[in-house]
Amino acid sequence: MRFFNTYSRELEEFAPRGPASRKIDMYTCGPTVYSRAHIGNFRAYIFEDLLQRHLELRGYKVHRVMNITDVDDKTIRGAREAKIPLAKFTEPFKQAFFQDIDTLRIKQADEFPAATDQRYIDKMIEMIGVLISRGLAYQAEDKSVYFRINKFPEYGKLAHFDLTQLQSTGRVKHDEYDKEHIGDFALWKAWDEEDGDVKWESPWGPGRPGWHIECSAMATALLGEQIDIHCGGVDNIFPHHEAEIAQSEGVTGKKFVRYWLHCAHLLVDGQKMSKSLGNFYTLSDVLQKGYTGREIRYALMRVHYRVPLNFTWDGMKEARESLGRIDDWLIRLREVAGEENVQRPTSNIQRPMKEPAGFESALDDDLNISAALGFLFESIRETNRAIDRGELDASSASGWLNWWKQINNVLDLESEIDAVPPEVGRLANERENARREKNWKRSDELRDQIFALGWEVRDAKDGQKLTRALSGKMLSQPGD
Ligand SMILES: [Zn+2]
Repeated sequence: MRFFNTYSRELEEFAPRGPASRKIDMYTCGPTVYSRAHIGNFRAYIFEDLLQRHLELRGYKVHRVMNITDVDDKTIRGAREAKIPLAKFTEPFKQAFFQDIDTLRIKQADEFPAATDQRYIDKMIEMIGVLISRGLAYQAEDKSVYFRINKFPEYGKLAHFDLTQLQSTGRVKHDEYDKEHIGDFALWKAWDEEDGDVKWESPWGPGRPGWHIECSAMATALLGEQIDIHCGGVDNIFPHHEAEIAQSEGVTGKKFVRYWLHCAHLLVDGQKMSKSLGNFYTLSDVLQKGYTGREIRYALMRVHYRVPLNFTWDGMKEARESLGRIDDWLIRLREVAGEENVQRPTSNIQRPMKEPAGFESALDDDLNISAALGFLFESIRETNRAIDRGELDASSASGWLNWWKQINNVLDLESEIDAVPPEVGRLANERENARREKNWKRSDELRDQIFALGWEVRDAKDGQKLTRALSGKMLSQPGD
């Protein structure tokens, strides 16, 4: 397995810290909870989800931490404008974030530490103290504490950034006067009136942490001084991740991260997403257009993570079509396999097609999802052809279904209706089409037919949900 490491700018063979270790520590930068996250953020979170799931498929145990930034300039400004306490302001955005990752089937991290948790504030203060004692940080006239980048020769290595570009050539902004170097970044921001009651006590006076130290402290507190994989979007590379390295390595003297993986930007209709261009979408904006979480997951996942992804409504339609092909394929395979064969073990199953490991090995190659999906759809085409010719036997169909079950642990793209008998699945697909065409009468008829087969259908935000009907329950009435 190999990944492109931003630090070396090379594809590197992946090996976790301990040579025999199957345990991987992974840190991923999470949301700043001052507004709803946009689909560009979710592209990065889906890439991280795919990475984690693929590592798990390959037998690694992943311990993942994703932080929640619930104190910074934007959250403080939002709380001040809403005239409510900071925690009250950020809470609904935290909840919305968890709801959104659930809709997109993104696996929950093992831990979601919040920056305002006193445990981590204490850790940040401890780390800043060590940096000052080593001459790597200083308190300036404005009472804030800054990292002294000139004392950390590695600074700029992750971003491949020439520090001389940062040399101040003339006047700098007023609030920058107190720093020794224009590139020095704040570790501790001294309290000022704008902060209201948002402040913590520290050896340097009341204030709040800088964004960068939050991640260094939470990563160290929960994963230790050295971690295997650190991810984020490309816009996190500089200065955020560069600063994380300087802080963590400045404190521990040890290499902080083995592999840095960064996800490229999301464009909308070929342009950078911005509120002024009217192409700025949150997840709920896309859901309101009638797309499901599963369809959005597919659309955001299907392009290799290092390639900018252009989000378009045509792309959403293609996502729906692609998933429809997977759904139909599974229904056909289940028909051929027959109910009783689906649960059979994978051994002794003869696969008539080419080696199905093509999917997994594509993901081994720097998580090449485009190639992996290409392999999946090629397999779908070939199997369908074999089914058309009546050449696919039940045990081969079961083999394909078992293979799908395995790769779907990574993709998580199965329609919930696929877990049901083929006949019910077909009716549910038909009902989905009827609802799309707003044919409510037909949709209700189909609901009753599905019920007669022992299944109940419920319409959720991300599509239909099927559950086994409770016995003795009356047929639901149209308009229920
Ligand atoms: Zn971070």
